[in-house]
Amino acid sequence: MNDITNTALGGDSLPVSRKRKISDAFSSSQSVPQQQQQPPSLVKQQKLDNSKSDLKNMRDRRQQLEAVLKEKQTAKDSLRKLQSELWSIRTDIPELELKLEKLMDEHRAIERGYKLKQGDLDLLSSKRDKQIHELQLGFELFQKEDEVKLNQEVERLADKFFNEAQQKEEQRRKRNKQERENLESQLAELNKKKKAIEQSFEDQISNLKREGEIKIENMKSDYHLKKQAIRLQIENTKAEIGITHDRMKDAELTISKNNDKIEKLSNEFKIAKANSGEFEEKTKSLRLEVSSLIQFSADRSKEYEQLREKSQKFVDDTKALREKLLEEETARRKLHNKLQEIKGNIRVFCRIKPELETNSFPHKITSLLETTDGKEHLSISEVPNTDQRQLQFNSNKSNIKRFNFGFDKIFDMESSNAEIFEEISQLVQSALDGYNVCIFTYGQTGSGKTYTMSNPNDGMIPRSVKLIFNRIEQLREMYWEFKVEGQFLEIYNENINDLMTESYLKNLDKIKHQIKHNEIEQTTTITDLTTIPLSNAEEVSSILETANRNRMTASTNSNNRSSRSHSVFIISLKAYNSQTGESTTGKLNLIDLAGSERISQSLVTGDRLRETQNINKSLSSLGDVIISLGNKKSQHIPYRNSKLTYLLQYSLGGNSKTLMFVNVSPNVKHFNESLNSLRFATKVNNTHIGQATKN
Ligand code: ADP
Ligand code: MG
Repeated sequence: MNDITNTALGGDSLPVSRKRKISDAFSSSQSVPQQQQQPPSLVKQQKLDNSKSDLKNMRDRRQQLEAVLKEKQTAKDSLRKLQSELWSIRTDIPELELKLEKLMDEHRAIERGYKLKQGDLDLLSSKRDKQIHELQLGFELFQKEDEVKLNQEVERLADKFFNEAQQKEEQRRKRNKQERENLESQLAELNKKKKAIEQSFEDQISNLKREGEIKIENMKSDYHLKKQAIRLQIENTKAEIGITHDRMKDAELTISKNNDKIEKLSNEFKIAKANSGEFEEKTKSLRLEVSSLIQFSADRSKEYEQLREKSQKFVDDTKALREKLLEEETARRKLHNKLQEIKGNIRVFCRIKPELETNSFPHKITSLLETTDGKEHLSISEVPNTDQRQLQFNSNKSNIKRFNFGFDKIFDMESSNAEIFEEISQLVQSALDGYNVCIFTYGQTGSGKTYTMSNPNDGMIPRSVKLIFNRIEQLREMYWEFKVEGQFLEIYNENINDLMTESYLKNLDKIKHQIKHNEIEQTTTITDLTTIPLSNAEEVSSILETANRNRMTASTNSNNRSSRSHSVFIISLKAYNSQTGESTTGKLNLIDLAGSERISQSLVTGDRLRETQNINKSLSSLGDVIISLGNKKSQHIPYRNSKLTYLLQYSLGGNSKTLMFVNVSPNVKHFNESLNSLRFATKVNNTHIGQATKN
């Protein structure tokens, strides 16, 4: 408002820059440049030019001046307009000032009112705070009281609950104790009963075993005595028949001689008769002679007839006796099988090899032969036998562990093949009686498997064959005729090789022998495998030789083939009884298994790795098959998992008999392998195969 007033009072409303322009325009017309001394014509011309430009300048200036004047006029107009506006504003000012004053008064009045109200409000809010505080105090007090009451109630309830719970717990405990005592007494009762049953069961079994064994022994000796007597009788009869035959022959000879004589005499008589009566006397005496000869002949014939009758009686008696023997033989078969089943269709024997290395430490093997569970036990530990060795050994080993194992039979280092065969012979008898039998030797290489199975002359193979032919001879008297055949094969890398062929090496990998099963007859054949008919025990040695030779030629220095393959000797026994029409087929499988030693698969490659894998696979399959045969619940028996088990499908399980030898070495460096073998055998030994009887 001051600006407006100053400008209006200054009287000149033109801006400063515009004033200067106007003064410049006037001053420039006066400052014409100074004239110089020049010629008159030129000066004249110059004067003319100057006055022309002056004129032009003046015209320009006039135009400028006019424009300035025009501007001045518009400025004056606007000044006037502004002045009139100023005036009207000036007249408004007092009114506005009045209005302002009034507004200010109102404002002050409002402010005063506000202050008053604020005071009231403060008063009210302090009052309210006080009330809230009081309420809060009251509430807290109430809350505290309530809390105390509540706590008391809670405590009371808790006490009540606790007491009730305690009572209930007490009751429950009493009840439980009572029940437990009842149950315990029942359990004890049951245990007692179970023990009694078990005891009686065991007693029964052992009685049965004993009885069976005694019965068989009695029967055997009875049978032998009877057989001896019958033999004697047969011999006597045979001798008598011989004598009678001789006499009959004599009589026949005499009769025929007499007949000749009669004929001759008759002829002579005819001649004499023709020559008329001169010989009448002679004829009479001759007639007499002839009739006496005829009488003699008739007497001889009668005697001959009597002898024939006697001989027939002997034949009949012999036949009756043989029939009796046959009956006894049938009974013996049944009893024998029953006894084998009582002993268990799967049996495991352990054989400990004598220590042959002179400077080696044997691990300690003790066998406790008498035990309650019908098994023989042995315990092994890594401690060598003698004290001196024990000291040496103990110096770097503390905590020597002892491992116990139980088997059907244990043969210690001193046992001979002859002793072992006593047990085997019963199974050979079963094979002759028409059952399938498998006998295995299991163990690490060098543990005595081959020594047990096929040592020439006294191994299980030669002894079995010898026994078979002895028994066949005896059974012939009871009308049994046998057909015996042998096959010898090896399973190497899951391939079957014929050990009986002379061109063995050439055939390796070329001929693929296949296993064929006849499900109906439950029989097995192997394609293109040599079958050797056996007619006496002596043939077995050449069979073993051929088999050995073939395996030796296939082995190399670093790898003994016989320890890396399974060898299977199969004797098939077909029998027919012409008297009863009965026929049986039994098989005796004698298997020398590949070495069971664990070769670390990481240490071998190529052929050796393949061999190792195949051996591991087939041995564990064999264990699996036997174990699942023993497990009554298993529906599926994994025969197909290896060639060996597939081949023996009908000779393992059912009413066939299996015997496994676990061969162990006592050498301390073989301790872990021995332990592995014994563990494997224990698994197999815990298996019992069904006791189905064969008709
Ligand atoms: P494997 O067939 O398990 O590899 P062997 O039967 O070849 O073992 O036995 C290894 C060595 O020990 C052979 O020289 C063998 O004659 C011998 N041997 C094994 N068992 C006996 C034993 N009971 N009595 C005497 N020597 C044995
Ligand atoms: Mg061997």
